[in-house]
Amino acid sequence: MDAHPDINTTPRGFRCTLCDVNLPNAPTVDAHVKGRKHQHLFRLRATRKTQEQNSVFVSGIKPDTSQMQLIDYFQQFGPVSEVIMDKDKGAYAIVQFEEHAAKQSSLDQLEHEMGGLKLRVKPREKKDFKVVIKKKQEGKNTHVNMDILNRDLCQASSVNEQMLRVVESCELSESERNGRELLVKLLQEVFTEFFPDCEILPFGSTINTFGVHSCDMDLFLDLEKTKIFQSRSKSSMEQAGDGQSEDGRSEDSILSDIDLTAASPAEVLELVATVLRKCVPGVQKVQTLTTARLPVVKFHHRDLNLHGDITINNRLALRNTRFLQLCSGLDSRLRPLVYTIRFWAKQKQLAGNPFGGGPLLNNYALTMLVIFFLQTRDPPVLHSVNQLKEMACEEEECVIEGWDCTFPSQPIAVPPSKNNEDLCTLLAAFFAFYSQFDFSASVVSVREARPLPATPSLTQTPQHSPAPAPQNSDKTSPKPSTRPRTRHMTILDPFELSHNVAGNVNERLHKSFQRECGDAEKYCRSLQYQRKSTKGKSWGLVRLFAPRCPTVPGASGSSSQGEGKEKQQRLEIRLPLRPEALPGSLRCQLGAGGEGFRERWFSLVRAAVEKVLQQVLGCRPAREEDFEDQMDTSVSSGTMDTSNPEEQQCASRARAETSSSSSDTPAASGDGAHQAGQKRSLSSTGPDSGFSSPQGKRQRLSSGDEGPDSACWCLVQRHRVWAGRRRARRDMLKSGDGGAAEHSLSEEGGVAMEVRVTELLTAQEPDPLDLLAFRVGARVEGDGENMATLLWFTPLFDSSGLFQDFFHFLESFIPKTTEVLLGLGEEKLK
Ligand code: ATP
Ligand code: MG
Repeated sequence: MDAHPDINTTPRGFRCTLCDVNLPNAPTVDAHVKGRKHQHLFRLRATRKTQEQNSVFVSGIKPDTSQMQLIDYFQQFGPVSEVIMDKDKGAYAIVQFEEHAAKQSSLDQLEHEMGGLKLRVKPREKKDFKVVIKKKQEGKNTHVNMDILNRDLCQASSVNEQMLRVVESCELSESERNGRELLVKLLQEVFTEFFPDCEILPFGSTINTFGVHSCDMDLFLDLEKTKIFQSRSKSSMEQAGDGQSEDGRSEDSILSDIDLTAASPAEVLELVATVLRKCVPGVQKVQTLTTARLPVVKFHHRDLNLHGDITINNRLALRNTRFLQLCSGLDSRLRPLVYTIRFWAKQKQLAGNPFGGGPLLNNYALTMLVIFFLQTRDPPVLHSVNQLKEMACEEEECVIEGWDCTFPSQPIAVPPSKNNEDLCTLLAAFFAFYSQFDFSASVVSVREARPLPATPSLTQTPQHSPAPAPQNSDKTSPKPSTRPRTRHMTILDPFELSHNVAGNVNERLHKSFQRECGDAEKYCRSLQYQRKSTKGKSWGLVRLFAPRCPTVPGASGSSSQGEGKEKQQRLEIRLPLRPEALPGSLRCQLGAGGEGFRERWFSLVRAAVEKVLQQVLGCRPAREEDFEDQMDTSVSSGTMDTSNPEEQQCASRARAETSSSSSDTPAASGDGAHQAGQKRSLSSTGPDSGFSSPQGKRQRLSSGDEGPDSACWCLVQRHRVWAGRRRARRDMLKSGDGGAAEHSLSEEGGVAMEVRVTELLTAQEPDPLDLLAFRVGARVEGDGENMATLLWFTPLFDSSGLFQDFFHFLESFIPKTTEVLLGLGEEKLK
């Protein structure tokens, strides 16, 4: 083993101080220092060192001093490679020169004056290079990866099995549950210090059996016993006059500040927020929302990466959580149905607003819809709440705020259902049921397990606790009868009968919900839903889960739904001007306030974006008209008419693609030999060769609206070039494919490497269902340093719901790669 400056000997073997890892023996040390990570950090340290050696620290600037001004000024000493301003802009800047001599001459100058400002220029402080490795967060949020889920679902043998797999992929893992339990214990310990005898009780999806990764943590802080403690200690202190309560505990200062019985919820919650902020380790972003229907303190736990809500007046929610737990225990079909329907609704943007509020259905309301549907099957899968009440024993009687919340505590008290429909049938029936349900005339009542007419007579007086009050009774006086807020959708709470749990739903969401149910119902009648594809294509839930594509300005797909005027979600990528990333001549033009810079810069960005999409990622130009007729069926719902099999449609799309290649549009000149279904060769698409068509002419993408400050392209992508890139890159490096050497994407070699990765990923025959067509618009906006190119994306054809994944990938890939290409200069972009 060669001696290495970063390797220290330890009692247990060796330690690499650069990578911060222990190594057991000499062979592992050798392997480690030659390995990717060590080599990468080694190079990074060297680069940083050079950067550090070539930089100066500049103070005396003003908040409105710009990067360009600094580049301009310091260029007199030599080329500037980067200017970093401090976060709040204004206190200092680091100016990095390309050469050491330039730095030295800037330091040698005794006085610096820039636009009337006296600048102080000093050598940059030397800092040890230290790798900051982000620790994996315990219970880190694991969002469901759609690609992995889809692959997993395709492999299942039936829709029933697919539904069970959805539960497996989404439910809280044991470690997530343990993390949540620990947080409850921690909060209990801390709050007990300040609110003696209090109880912190979880409710909602953490414990109602429908929790998903990263769902919030709903907590109820029960202060009833603390109030008793407070009044007792007050009277005993008054008697004894020694500041000690009768059980020897001194009243904490927080409690001496407030009378819990008389204080408003807002006042109590402020105290709760203070305790959270000051005393609970790992808690951050504490916020009190006192104007909500239920005042709440929100927080985030950093290490568990968890959002939490604490309420103090929410006993009904504790009880309805128990009710959901009971329902899950009564029939094992409920969980897979709820998980599947929640997932579907989230994909279709009907439910699951993570921040609550807004017009979307919340998960609780959606669960009520599933329960109600199961109650109305023949024979029913679940009993009505009224029937359940009859099955409860005396000890289980429970009245909260005047509402009867009685039901059996254990499933054993309830006879099993005689219904034996399978999950696949029930899911299809759910969509059929709600696509037809007349929400304007009927109210969903889980209490009665039947639709009630939407009339004021529906309002019932809360059932008061009989005298004497049962064990679980809440002492608060019954509320006067209030009418539920009947709106576009009325779903009555099972207990608080004056409460419409879908009171926030607006007309548009109601319509979307029923339309999506109708589309899903149609799809569920097709063979693609019911039968596993023998050719490995998407089937069953995979196609049902195709997301509803968000729309962008000008997307005809949205206006065809009559929603053009609604606020549209934009799929945009912004590429700001970064002077330091420009090639020298262009930077000089910018610095000199040169005429025509804007146009020149945009034309370069446009060329770079074209190159990234077409040459690096293998997207092919196409004609937009060929996809127009598909927008409604594929983009908005992800489902297709069964009378028009998807293979036919995809083939016709592929034909359109081919015909566009052979048409006389500018796009056609590039790859005329390509036929639908054939492998596409990218062999001539290296970064240097890639800008020319085989005829040696620059290949233009189909562009409808092109001018000096805007452009528009219509493209198709037939492969999932975003999936498995990292692995493909690794495999390529391992096999030394094409002399591949490791490059970061920030260098020219990195772009060439990405081209080869795409070749690898597109070498296989594509699945016709994976065909994506989309439009990209580009526009330059702003002036001077605020200049930016805005790209916006409109999906035109997306039968498998892949576009969002592709877009997410593009969000980071396009900015990184275009920047490298821009840095190469105009010659290479021509
Ligand atoms: P998730 O957090 O995964 O969205 P959840 O069931 O926890 O699901 P929340 O919105 O966090 O939903 O609400 C927490 C709990 O508060 C619910 O489980 C339910 O007990 C109660 N709750 C929520 N919304 C309502 C409502 N509209 N009416 C009555 N109770 C509600
Ligand atoms: Mg919740």
